Amino acid sequence: MSTTQTRVMVDTNPADTSDVLAHVPQHSIDDAMRAVRLAEQAYPVWRATPPPERGRVLARAAELARARVDELATLLTREEGKILSEARGEVLKGINLLEWYSGEGFRVGGKTRPSEMPTTILFSLRQPLGVVAIITPWNFPWAEPVWKAAPALVAGNAVVLKPASLTPLVAQRYLEILEQAGLPKGVLTIVVGPGPEVGDALVTHPAVRAVSFTGSCEIGGEVYARAARRLAKVTCEMGGKNAVVVMPDADLELAAAGIVQGAFGSTGQRCTATSLCVVHRDVKSRLVDGIVGRARAIRVGNGLEAGVGMGPLVDARQLATVLHYVDDGRAAGARLACGGRRLTEGAYAGGYFIEPTVFTDVQPGNRIAQEEIFGPVLAVIEVGSLEEALKVTNGLRYGLSSSIYAADANTIMRFVDEIEAGMVHVNSPTVGGEAQIPFGGIKWSGIGGREMAEEGLEFFTELKSVFWDYTGRARQTNIY
Ligand code: NDP
Repeated sequence: MSTTQTRVMVDTNPADTSDVLAHVPQHSIDDAMRAVRLAEQAYPVWRATPPPERGRVLARAAELARARVDELATLLTREEGKILSEARGEVLKGINLLEWYSGEGFRVGGKTRPSEMPTTILFSLRQPLGVVAIITPWNFPWAEPVWKAAPALVAGNAVVLKPASLTPLVAQRYLEILEQAGLPKGVLTIVVGPGPEVGDALVTHPAVRAVSFTGSCEIGGEVYARAARRLAKVTCEMGGKNAVVVMPDADLELAAAGIVQGAFGSTGQRCTATSLCVVHRDVKSRLVDGIVGRARAIRVGNGLEAGVGMGPLVDARQLATVLHYVDDGRAAGARLACGGRRLTEGAYAGGYFIEPTVFTDVQPGNRIAQEEIFGPVLAVIEVGSLEEALKVTNGLRYGLSSSIYAADANTIMRFVDEIEAGMVHVNSPTVGGEAQIPFGGIKWSGIGGREMAEEGLEFFTELKSVFWDYTGRARQTNIY
């Protein structure tokens, strides 16, 4: 959508800020209002489009995106910084979601039930809400808009999407692909601009029937309160402090590899990143040796270069936050086992690079053990039992993802049962999600319903219950 504004955001590569991707015009609050009006106009035709046909638009978008994986991944790496293989993984995950939700076009619907009354049929319909707003963060600039907008669209809603200001280009490619796949103009509109203005204008707009937000707990709490105040539907997926518990009977090589992947993949900038390792003292030193050896071997650099294992942080603010937590960990008495330094020499000079960082001897009350850092920093806490591990992990205010490395089935099942988290991994890292299984967290990590799978579609629909007496005489014979 065009804007009359003159404000422009310079979109740069976090690995090399001299690489300017674009000068992106910023939308205003008036533009956000206009986007909602466009969506209102486009909604009736899209609502009347049969759901399987809506699904076919997504299926065609999946095909178009598949033909552009390399181009999309390269753009994603340049805009957000994650390494190319991770960017490809993100693009492919988005394609899986498009494929999953294209099939939902054949399934979106309610259920039938018998009635207490004769000659009466009961059924429910799942119907679209109208205009919905989607607000996404920068760390999954392709997958997030896809995983929210695909269910919203197949359900028949018109969408106004506000991507994070740091990563608008990848989201714009998504719109381009959807329109090429046959999505009518106005059914999805993108507004780009500062969250407190443009985002808030959507959250508080009376015509916006639902708000789906992913981002920080701080902003999510505000968005939730402001949308709820006008009784709009709202779902917020937020931060995490995801722990891996390692028991004495675990495969320690597997655990070390999984922890390193979870902690340093995407430079730790994942809501499901592993930021805490809670290890039984009998195997602590062997596990830490395995983690530190692997962390030191990671080559940090520009994600477009072959052999690079970890890219930069997304911007100067994120870098300052992470370095602040490193200082805090040191000051609290934790032992820096590796990393902790900003990299500035040579090719690093133009970007926001930091070493993969591991702290040991961390106490559960330390800030680095409690707060989401959103960077490549792992805190290791030693415990003496599963009970103690559960006490540490369930003591966190977050509840997104978790993991246990162990062999004993009873230990594993007890962890699965008692851990307070929306997602549990067994003998695998805390990261990842798949289109066909619900994604989301509890406590501070999420409120308002799960995303992905059929549950992700439910949020974007209202249920209508129908009571149909097909003879017109049932009431006479019934007391209900
Ligand atoms: P923010 O909360 O800062 O921003 C998220 C989005 O909200 C952005 O589009 C932002 O716009 C917008 N926004 C900012 N202020 C407002 C406002 N007042 N009203 C409405 N919208 C607003 O998060 P980040 O972008 O920094 O993303 C990182 C966070 O996202 C981490 O905490 C991470 O854990 C979480 N996350 C959670 C996931 C999950 O599924 N649980 C998945 C991925 C990330 P702008 O960019 O213009 O500021």
